[in-house]
This record gives sequence, C-alpha cells and structure tokens, in this order.
Amino acid sequence: MAIVAIQKCSTYEKEVLKEKIRNCLDAIGSAEFLKPGMKVFLKPNCVGAFPPELGITTHPVFLEAVVEILKEYTDDIIFGDNPATRDIIPVLKKCGLYEIALKHNLKIFRGNDLITIKNPNPRIFSEFQVSREMIEVDLLVNLPKLKTHSLTYMSVAEKNLFGMIYGLSKAGWHVRANNPLQFGEALNDLYGAILKAYEGRRMLHLCDGILGLEGEGPGTGGRPKAAGVIFASADAVSLDRVAASVCKLDPEKIFVTKIAHEREYGEGDLKNIDIVGESLSAFEDLKFQEAVNPHSTFGLRLLKYNFLRNLLLEHPRIDRERCIKCGECVKICPPKALKFKKAFPHLRKSDCIRCWCCAEVCPKNAILKSKRPLIGRIALKNRD
Ligand code: SF4
Ligand code: SF4
Repeated sequence: MAIVAIQKCSTYEKEVLKEKIRNCLDAIGSAEFLKPGMKVFLKPNCVGAFPPELGITTHPVFLEAVVEILKEYTDDIIFGDNPATRDIIPVLKKCGLYEIALKHNLKIFRGNDLITIKNPNPRIFSEFQVSREMIEVDLLVNLPKLKTHSLTYMSVAEKNLFGMIYGLSKAGWHVRANNPLQFGEALNDLYGAILKAYEGRRMLHLCDGILGLEGEGPGTGGRPKAAGVIFASADAVSLDRVAASVCKLDPEKIFVTKIAHEREYGEGDLKNIDIVGESLSAFEDLKFQEAVNPHSTFGLRLLKYNFLRNLLLEHPRIDRERCIKCGECVKICPPKALKFKKAFPHLRKSDCIRCWCCAEVCPKNAILKSKRPLIGRIALKNRD
C-alpha cells in the first residue's frame, strides 16, 4: 500500500521543521531512502525569481532543514532547478535559496548537460531530454510547493518534476502538447520516463505546504495561503492525491494524477493510500481556492480544439499599470503569441494556447485573466 505521511506545521522555524520532517521520514521508512555516502539531487520548486513570502517557491528554511538532515548521511548533495527563462543563480538569490546552498557547501547545478530518458510505454511522447545531474544520483529529493495551477489545476509533486526539462525547452512541450489533456499525458509520459530512469534507485517527495499558493497559480497570479502542512511519500501520485483532499480540491479535476493512476505510475485512489501522522480530518477547516478553468472531462475534451478555446475561454490580459516591460512573458510564450507593440506586450489571441506560462514567469502579476466570453460561460456552466 502506498504511504503518505502528513504533519501539521505552521512555522518556518528550522528546528521545529526538522522534527516534523524527521517524523514524516520515519513514518514512510527513512532507512529505505537515507544511506551513508549516497549521492543526492535536491530539486526545489524554483520556477522563477520570487521572494519566499509569495508562497511560489520552496522556502529557504524548508530547504535548510532537509539539507541538515541529509548531511547526517552524506556531503554529496547537488542542488538546483531549471527556471523557465533565467539563469539559475539570480533566481536562487531572489528565492533566498542561494545563501543556504553556499552555507552548506551544496554543489549548484547548471542543468544544460542533457541526457535522453525514455518512456517504454508512452501515450504520446517516448523521449525527453533532461538535465543529467538530476538523473545520475542515488536519491532524488523532490521539494515541491503546495499550489493550485491555471493549466494543470494543481501543482505539487509530479508537476514539480517537469522542471527536469532544461530552461526554455519546457515551453516547447506546451506547443507539442497544446491542450490541458494532452499536456497531462505528456507530463505522465515524462514521469514514466523518470520512473524508468530511476529503476533500482529512489525518489523521495517532501512537500512544503506550510505556506502554499491558491487561485491562479503557480506564479504571482496566485495568493499565498497559510496551509500549515508538510507531506512526504515515495510516491508522487499518492502524495498529490492526498494533498488534493487536504486542500479540498476536486478529485475529479486533478487530471494529471488521474492519468498517472490509470497508467499505474502510482496510487491515485485514496482507499489504497495509507495516511500516517495527521489524518485528513485534522485539516477540515482548510480550503484552497481553485484556479478558474474548465477541468471537467467535458471541458478538457472541448479544449483540444483551438477555435473552441478562443470562443469559450479567458485569455491573458496585460495590466499596463503593473507591467514593468521586462519581456519575460514574451520570451517564454511557446507559440509566440505575445510580442512587444507600443512598448507593452501585445497578445495575438488566436495564437494563444492558454498555457499560462506568461503568468507563471511575470514578476509583477501583470498578466490577468480576461472575463470568460458569454458563450463560454453558457457552454461550460456547471461543467467546470
Ligand atoms: S500568451 Fe500566455 S497563455 Fe497564451 S500561449 Fe503565450 S504564454 Fe501561453
Ligand atoms: S507582463 Fe509581466 S512578464 Fe510581461 S513584460 Fe510586463 S512585467 Fe514583464
């Protein structure tokens, strides 16, 4: 039976955090993961250059607590992520993670030495180029945040591994899999390839949900949410499933997890997950606000067609008061639907695939969602 450990934790006080993380590790069988002299890759959520109080990226104290526990076993720790548009160092600095890496002598990775990993049984894509240093270790420690997401509904353990793909090449996957369902399949093709690459070695998922993000995540469009929770599991799929229940998100809409369950990449059925530590009822007052997007099976099927997306869905709208003209959105936009015009980014709506990468990287929350068109409100009523 898959195991997910939960601990309540409402503070980023390091010693408290270490105790809670240790409780989680003991509950899921730490001896299985933590071996003397092991080589470890630490993968935080470092999607962009955002300060920790926004709840977008893994908190530096959470990282430090994990590092101090790992250091009892090994000094061979590599650390990093593949932010979408920028070099890792300035991003780590802004997120408050760089000084932790320096203080503990972690090797910071660069990400651009790539290796091909293969999914032996893909639905759409069989091969992925990922950062070699993330693969060639004994243990991958995945440190996701607890977030809602405009495209994938939720972004926790499995989605955080999309960051194995180097920098801007992530945007290319949004073009190749340009609707939510296809993207969910592509994420799972990648996850299947990662599971294959890790055969005989271990992955550990430790989620920083002390301060999460609700609403239009995973970037500045979302709102920080004090959730006061930590999750741990060897199975990203069961962790995500349990996290959805803790946050009162709709299990029918967590399509990435549902696809993973169908494909037997992990356990997505709550009945078959052993929840240890705190029970779900300990979080009965916690509720995350969803991102606005149709994620019912009906809505997802419709959104395969570009003309229907344009007819039915919200589109990005630039708030010129907030925009600092940094160009991050233009740089990342996979189909090049955003271009500068009269000094501000301008959207060619018919080219937009509604991937919301632009909102993910915008440092000023200047990319808002337009109102849903009337026909979309009628067609998708009660079907979101
Ligand atoms: S404008 Fe934004 S949502 Fe539309 S395709 Fe570009 S990045 Fe994606
Ligand atoms: S909308 Fe955001 S990302 Fe785009 S140029 Fe303006 S501030 Fe930068």
